[in-house]
Amino acid sequence: MLLRLGDVEIWRILESVDPFMAPQDFFPDMGPDGLELMRREVPRQLCQTTGKMLLPIQGFLVKTPQHVILIDACIGNDKTCEFEELWHKRSDGRFLAGLRAAGVAPEDIDYVMCTHLHIDHVGWNTRLEDGRWVPTFPNARYIFPAADHEHFSSELGVTYQESVLPVIAANQAELVGPDHKLGDYLSLIPTPGHTPGHVAVEVTNAGKVAVVTGDVMHSPIQCLKPEWNFAYDNEPDLAAKSRRKFLEVACERQNLILGSHFPLPSHGKVAAKSGAFAWLED
Ligand SMILES: [Zn+2]
Repeated sequence: MLLRLGDVEIWRILESVDPFMAPQDFFPDMGPDGLELMRREVPRQLCQTTGKMLLPIQGFLVKTPQHVILIDACIGNDKTCEFEELWHKRSDGRFLAGLRAAGVAPEDIDYVMCTHLHIDHVGWNTRLEDGRWVPTFPNARYIFPAADHEHFSSELGVTYQESVLPVIAANQAELVGPDHKLGDYLSLIPTPGHTPGHVAVEVTNAGKVAVVTGDVMHSPIQCLKPEWNFAYDNEPDLAAKSRRKFLEVACERQNLILGSHFPLPSHGKVAAKSGAFAWLED
């Protein structure tokens, strides 16, 4: 188990940690001194052999007294990925083994909550069975941000077709607004910009708050530099605004941050520092 908030358990379900893009491409705003700052502040997010960003791909399993909820479904097996070879047509048991280690079988999941509808957050939504995509979690309701659904259904890209549409066809999807609450313990935090409907997810219990970032930020370096956008943030200005607000709230309330793509252990808090924030890893 990763951590416990009273009688709510949070487990990390890790799929992979691989190099992904050079830092200067990942954060085009970093400027000439940015790489040095990254080397100094978050050396563990830089691959020693390739120099690329090391990007964990992970979901978080939340067990509350009411529900078993999977937040984000990683890349999945057999999925088509045109831009990253390591993500294309994977065949790997680590994600499902992680669920088993948490004492959970696919049929035990009550909800799958996708922070947004990108390939590395929706993959295990479905699996290939006799040449057809079927929901991996047969008894789950899948919660998708409505604004992301509107955006990606109009594009009809391959990720939407492989990992989202089959869930809708199976009548297991719920499209929700950005302030949705899921049971008594989880609430969505609107953080648009990376995608139009992007949400972070707060888990609250026993006087504590843990918040899963999704892709409102990708690295602890963005605590110091909230203005650094990821190269593929859909609306960069909005993404930066959402990121700063997310950090301000996390700082003020002393939220525990679970960084979806942060180097392991991927959790910590933030403190105010020089007009931005310092990352205090647990
Ligand atoms: Zn991501």
